[in-house]
Amino acid sequence: MWVLMPLAFAGMLLKAFRQQLSSLWSALVPLFSFLRTFWLAGPQRKQQQQQHKESQAENQKVEDDLPITPTSVNYHFTRQCNYKCGFCFHTAKTSFVLPLAEAKRGLLWLKDAGMEKINFSGGEPFIHDRGEYLGELVKFCKVDLQLPSVSIVSNGSLIRENWFQRYGDYLDILAISCDSFNEEVNVLIGRGQGKKNHVETLQRLRRWCRDYRVAFKINSVINRFNVDEDMNEQIRALNPVRWKVFQCLLIDGENSGDDALREAERFVISDEEFDGFLDRHKEISCLVPESNQKMKDSYLILDEYMRFLNCKNGRKDPSKSILDVGVEAAIKCSGFDEKMFLKRGGKYMWSKADLQLEW
Ligand code: SF4
Repeated sequence: MWVLMPLAFAGMLLKAFRQQLSSLWSALVPLFSFLRTFWLAGPQRKQQQQQHKESQAENQKVEDDLPITPTSVNYHFTRQCNYKCGFCFHTAKTSFVLPLAEAKRGLLWLKDAGMEKINFSGGEPFIHDRGEYLGELVKFCKVDLQLPSVSIVSNGSLIRENWFQRYGDYLDILAISCDSFNEEVNVLIGRGQGKKNHVETLQRLRRWCRDYRVAFKINSVINRFNVDEDMNEQIRALNPVRWKVFQCLLIDGENSGDDALREAERFVISDEEFDGFLDRHKEISCLVPESNQKMKDSYLILDEYMRFLNCKNGRKDPSKSILDVGVEAAIKCSGFDEKMFLKRGGKYMWSKADLQLEW
């Protein structure tokens, strides 16, 4: 009897709460099932994340191992120059220039490795052999190698009309460095040269480029002395196909550091100052800006020995010469960032045949 009473009482309680218990259970079932899936899926998800990471790393490795194509190459065949720009990125540390036949051999190998554009630079490329060496390389690249684009970057001071008459046909683009339209600022920067006026030289070269059908480009390095200048009017009047605007960059061993020939620290400007210059000239459609970030690793630079220069560590570390180890081996040490090259618009309409200019 005493045993049966609690049992009966428990039975009554159970009956009374059955409905509530049943609805509580129905509510808990999906929660338990969710937690179960979550607990089971936890390790699975971790495994998937790990696999994703591994495949990403593998893809990156495959990308890194892919041979770099030297689509666009800058060959600084001489370091000699008649100017003394205080921020110069490629100073006169040697007077070496390869024999012409050797330089042509290297250019042929680069073409075989996929080169489409060559840019000759320096130092001042017109200084060696009064521009004849340069003329022969330009002609070789256009006629023998049939490169779509052959260009030169020069300070312009040593170019004569006679050079255009002989080699103008083979040249696609001539880029002239001009950092200011104020001659006093040019002198401060180091681009002054005795009685010659850099701005007048620029205007004369613009005429010759029109007369001899060479696309005309301007390169400017924005630095402490020209950062506040308004160049809108002069650039519009010169009407270049492209106006490359660089932010002054420090390169250890070239324009900064103990073993450098220049001390460019006093020329450096902040990113904000550079942006301010760009903003002032934003209406000029041919302006192509290049901040330090974009510029540093996005150029394939060959020095006077045909060694690729790697700027990854803030200085120009040379590879072996392509003439000794071939293009493929040398280019691996170039530090070239192909993605940044494409991002900064490194591949553009660079052949004068395609530019359809109104000369
Ligand atoms: S003209 Fe060019 S190569 Fe010559 S000193 Fe100036 S920056 Fe250097």
